[in-house]
Amino acid sequence: MKKCPICGGDMHPNEVMNSLSRVDNKTYICNDCGTKEALEGIDRSLGRLLIKAIEDKDRPAFDAIIERFPRLPVSVMSAVNARFGRKLFEY
Ligand SMILES: [Zn+2]
Repeated sequence: MKKCPICGGDMHPNEVMNSLSRVDNKTYICNDCGTKEALEGIDRSLGRLLIKAIEDKDRPAFDAIIERFPRLPVSVMSAVNARFGRKLFEY
């Protein structure tokens, strides 16, 4: 199985089902790392807080961050949805 070049985790056998890295726009990385790139891309400190809230499954912290940042880019919303495996955001 192909491994993610960033975290070494398993990648989807179908390359396009993974995430395209924003760093060079041609390297495929796993969807978790793709989410991190997307979130850190908007605002590094806010992105990290959001990732931490997601990883801790801390819903109140997550909601507080989202409240402060109501206009998340669609790419970020879809990344968060993918990470949770369900639709947290409608867009
Ligand atoms: Zn990865």
